[in-house]
Amino acid sequence: MTVTESPPLSTCTVRIERRGGRGEAGAQALERRLRETRGVHDVDVSFRIGSARITYDDSVTSEETLRQAVRDRDVSIQDDPDAPPDEVTSRSELRREAVFVGLTLVGMLTGLATGWLEGPSLLTWGGYGVAYVFGGWYGLKGAIETLRHRAVDIDLLMIVAALGALSIGAPFEGAMLLFLFSLSNTLQHYAIGRSRRAIKSLVEMRPDAAQILRDGEEVTVPIDEVAVGDVFVVRPGDKIPLDGIVTSGEGTADQASLTGESVPVPKEPGDEVFGGTINESGSLEIEVTRQAHESAISRLIHMVERAQSEKAPTQRLIDRLEQPYVLGVFALTIAAIAIPLALGSDFTSTFYRAMTLMVAASPCAVIISTPAAVLSAIASGGRQGVLFKGGEHVETAAEIDAVAFDKTGTLTQGNTQLTDVLVRDGATDETLTDQELLSLAAAVQARSEHHLARATVAAAKDRSLDVPDAVRFQSVAGKGVNADVEARTIHIGNPSYFETVLGDVAVDGLEPALDRLQTLEVEGKTSVLVAREHHGDVTVLGWLAFTDTVRPDAAEMIADLRSLGVEHIVMLTGDNERVAQRIADEVGIDEVQAELLPEEKVATIEDLIERYENVAMVGDGVNDAPALATATLGVAMGGAGTDVALDTADVVLMGDDLSKIPYVLGLGRKTRRTLTVNLTIAFGAIGLMVGTILLRGIPLPLAVVGHEGSTVLVSLNGLRLLGYRG
Ligand code: ADP
Ligand code: MG
Repeated sequence: MTVTESPPLSTCTVRIERRGGRGEAGAQALERRLRETRGVHDVDVSFRIGSARITYDDSVTSEETLRQAVRDRDVSIQDDPDAPPDEVTSRSELRREAVFVGLTLVGMLTGLATGWLEGPSLLTWGGYGVAYVFGGWYGLKGAIETLRHRAVDIDLLMIVAALGALSIGAPFEGAMLLFLFSLSNTLQHYAIGRSRRAIKSLVEMRPDAAQILRDGEEVTVPIDEVAVGDVFVVRPGDKIPLDGIVTSGEGTADQASLTGESVPVPKEPGDEVFGGTINESGSLEIEVTRQAHESAISRLIHMVERAQSEKAPTQRLIDRLEQPYVLGVFALTIAAIAIPLALGSDFTSTFYRAMTLMVAASPCAVIISTPAAVLSAIASGGRQGVLFKGGEHVETAAEIDAVAFDKTGTLTQGNTQLTDVLVRDGATDETLTDQELLSLAAAVQARSEHHLARATVAAAKDRSLDVPDAVRFQSVAGKGVNADVEARTIHIGNPSYFETVLGDVAVDGLEPALDRLQTLEVEGKTSVLVAREHHGDVTVLGWLAFTDTVRPDAAEMIADLRSLGVEHIVMLTGDNERVAQRIADEVGIDEVQAELLPEEKVATIEDLIERYENVAMVGDGVNDAPALATATLGVAMGGAGTDVALDTADVVLMGDDLSKIPYVLGLGRKTRRTLTVNLTIAFGAIGLMVGTILLRGIPLPLAVVGHEGSTVLVSLNGLRLLGYRG
């Protein structure tokens, strides 16, 4: 992802009407017009899926102005942005399309049968008439709408070809073309609808009502009427209706619907639970933290919809080429009529051959090959709790050569625990106990959000220590903290803190203390020094050591990445070299970059991009945001709980499941292979048929079958990605 320099841009996704035809040339025309609108930077329009995604400069224009600009182009838009996505590709619409296809078939067969049996010609022509009207209906509508935007598309090609066949007395061939054309269009709409609905079914898993506790009684309340702060009850086997925090009870939740994690997650008071997941065991009381429409699962669904509205680069290219290609096919057809006629060929056979050429050369399969695959891939990710923020990132995921991981909270569980409190002998006149040392440290750390700080405070609380107040707290990123406790300044930090922040002060006992620190670190413990300053004299009081559990599946995940062909795996951390190296050895990481300040993480990613070109960065999204933004592909974990990750990352894992990282790269690679196969089928069919026609000619029905057959084939091949499990 590229970091945009000024100005800050916003993106909105407008739901627009879907259009019956196949081509996107009309959408391209609308894109061009919208790009001319003031303040607009980028536009993706698709009539096929019914969306317009506009990136714009907030200070120049507004979403409302842009919606109006779309309306001004005679494109109707859906006004309720919160309406569920499938209202755009409704089932009733699909059903009508299917009926039209059926009528086309009946008309075509009637025409064929009565013609063959030499029945009344009225019936023959009636049959073909029905086939032409119903088979051509949506295509003609699409073609006319595109023409009104002063563009031509493949729908127009198909209509002209059918009428051409009719004009040379081949009504059956024309009817068959329209039949297969409308059939494959309906299949495409079904395929696209499937990839949209795949996600929507998630929200339907959520119950409509919650059991709310009111004055000790359970009342059934529809989820839309539940307020933040209400408490509801779930029993074993119940679906959890809303996002909240457990207030009492213990149990396990199956969060697969949201995060794709198959292992149940233990829940106890203070833990976050999510609507749409299942409470497997234990009764829980849960306080609502988000209203239904803001829940993690609703956000996931809306994000997937937005993601599907962003075109992948391959698709942008193809959509841009549609119109020139169509014009090229028209030119070819005219040449195929004019040249033989000028050379004295027979009109009917020349025209027949030109129509065959026109059908064979039409790029329908090329045009559908990409969206069928990319939309399915995004939907498949959504069902696994993996949110690609756009089709572009699916393609990028296929290219990744190196992966960088943040250590704390990503490779480790992030549940840092204090393991050792060590007092330095003879540090002070009065003897300091380890309890006193811990409470001094906890006093300072109570002001910090750092994971080491939280572990320190939790340890003091566990031991029921009295923690004094601290004032004048200061934090030095990546190094340490200090504050005044009981009129003395307490410093807590790593060697770099003592070198740089206290560089000018002689610290009593520093040398042996640093040696001791090293010994702790060799054991794999992240360690800091605690010192006290009094009248400008600083004395080391002791050490605090911490550990954090490596995630059990980390080693397997790294191995999976290698078998996918990732060349180089790196760990980035602010923690010290020795601890980092130990974890790296344990899970099988190639390179360790330790003791990095936050801004150095960005520089390290830039350096990796120099060396490996396409680099993914995986982090928990809170303090890794700049690095996530710099990487070619930023992957944030734990998206269900936080919003921060959603802003900076390109791919968001809703849960904490590391196995989803190989899944992301695997899905990217699989999608790219599918695209290659699809484009090969599409261009192969065109090349083969056009070549044969030019050399010796093929019957029109065969060209029709080859053309429409390849279109259906690429749609179905793309749809297969919906089932990708990694
Ligand atoms: P990471 O997220 O990898 O732990 P940070 O940049 O947050 O990286 O921290 C790097 C190091 O800075 C820590 O390992 C610790 O030595 C020191 N440090 C940062 N904040 C604190 C703090 N509040 N208390 C003690 N040490 C800290
Ligand atoms: Mg971290």
